[in-house]
Amino acid sequence: MTWHVEVDERTCIGSGMCAALAPELFTLDDDHASPVAPDIEPDEVALDAADSCPALAITVTDGAKAVAPRS
Ligand code: SF4
Repeated sequence: MTWHVEVDERTCIGSGMCAALAPELFTLDDDHASPVAPDIEPDEVALDAADSCPALAITVTDGAKAVAPRS
């Protein structure tokens, strides 16, 4: 099973929370974050990062199913 991680560059406000919480999963450049790798092994930290994003810019999907942010 592989999860897919995306950051919506239009929504990301560059707070850096995801890169601070999960530097192995997210990297921050001048304006916004991006996934270190778009496809990851299932990782609870990715869910926490998506839930913590103040802009809800991170989505984690398992195939066609969205797994984060969790509502
Ligand atoms: S936590 Fe959200 S808003 Fe902040 S840098 Fe990461 S993706 Fe962007």
